[in-house]
Amino acid sequence: MKEKEHVIKEVYPGSIAEELEIEPGDVLLAVNNQEIEDVFDYRYMMKDEYIEVVVRKPDGEEWLLEIDKEYDDDLGVEFENSLMSDYRSCSNKCIFCFIDQMPPGMRETLYFKDDDSRLSFLQGNYITLTNMKEKDIERIIRMQLAPINISVQTTNSELRCKMLHNRFAGEKLKYLQMLYDGHVEMNGQIVCCKNVNDGHELERSIRDLAKYLPFLRSVSVVPAGITKYREGLFPVGLYTKEEAGNVIDMIESRQQEYYDRYGLHFIHASDEWYITAGRDFPEEERYDGYIQLENGVGMMRLFINEFNETLEEITGSPEYEGLKNTVNRTLTIATGKLAFPTICSFAGQLMKAFPLLTIHVFFIRNCFFGETITVSGLITGQDLVKQLKERREKGEELGDVLQIPSNMLRMGEQVFLDDLTVKDVEEELGMKLAAVEPGGREFIEAILDPEYRMKRNNDNFVYIKAYDREKEK
Ligand code: SF4
Repeated sequence: MKEKEHVIKEVYPGSIAEELEIEPGDVLLAVNNQEIEDVFDYRYMMKDEYIEVVVRKPDGEEWLLEIDKEYDDDLGVEFENSLMSDYRSCSNKCIFCFIDQMPPGMRETLYFKDDDSRLSFLQGNYITLTNMKEKDIERIIRMQLAPINISVQTTNSELRCKMLHNRFAGEKLKYLQMLYDGHVEMNGQIVCCKNVNDGHELERSIRDLAKYLPFLRSVSVVPAGITKYREGLFPVGLYTKEEAGNVIDMIESRQQEYYDRYGLHFIHASDEWYITAGRDFPEEERYDGYIQLENGVGMMRLFINEFNETLEEITGSPEYEGLKNTVNRTLTIATGKLAFPTICSFAGQLMKAFPLLTIHVFFIRNCFFGETITVSGLITGQDLVKQLKERREKGEELGDVLQIPSNMLRMGEQVFLDDLTVKDVEEELGMKLAAVEPGGREFIEAILDPEYRMKRNNDNFVYIKAYDREKEK
């Protein structure tokens, strides 16, 4: 298969492709007489209302298809390679890189360092711009592909070169100006390393980046994640409670000014800063529609608000008095240290509202990556099994259902980061596992009414999906 030929993996029912008898295994050769370089090209060309598509069938026959369509329709196919080109790897060696701090022996794909603008557009990944050329930026501008999410770290060119270990990292900051001039929507991220790009450097970066408002719509500031595998790497320290508070103060002191001018709070501290500083999370309005949720900015506020609203809705409903004493079960919730206080508070409120309900909440220490990693998304199956078994040996009751957030599993799989499967964990613990999607409503409904939504698939996996009240009516 040549580089610019794209094998079709799936044809969606009811799509243009199906109507034209395009089938899985067919190969897309050209659109409007041009080869398709990658998914950017494909999406861009699909915007025309009249297109000509050349497809090669498995017997070698080539079909020319003329298609009259709506502006926003595409063929309705999935390609074997979703980027329609090779993934671009990064050309940096950042001092805080999480991949460099991973234990050996994990699945090979987890060590792949991508830095690909196509993934930024398609999946929201953050890119450093260091492996891009001016012509790549011009293409993004021409095609108006947005948003592009950029890992900035600092606007100090020299410091950026040092942090990214890449001598071109400073000069590549000029692409921000190009994207701004081209009116391309962007989001930014600053990974803070203690005593490196924080303090005055952070203030300066925020000031510099604010010049790109309103096309640069948000910038999140997140502390670098530090594992125990840092031997031989640049020493990056952990933030103390007071230092985290200073970062929050500086960020919050600037939000109002940007909001007054642009209607955006623009600069956001991630949830981890608030937890480290022991502060309350900002009110919902300050998250600008949760624009940086994927970066851990506002997740806890959203979770808390949804939880409160759902609990209020339930306890305020006419059925509540009848329901109150029917929820009679014991379960265990496992979470990371970071969310532990919030989950404990939720469990307490639920047990008060439902007196026969018993919830045990445990935070799982991250022995796999090191105890400085406190998020639930990086807890492995082996840590979960070992620590819950220890609890049980000490005589603690766990119940027969273990509820975990679904982010402990790899996206779309029933596998933990260390390759232990849900089934392995269930067998080891003799409990059913319930992986619950993020959200305060899902959290409550999974606890109160598990039978209703539990779905058992062939792999013996209990999966609780959000209960859609509207659909049930
Ligand atoms: S850009 Fe930096 S942090 Fe990202 S993968 Fe590459 S080296 Fe790691």
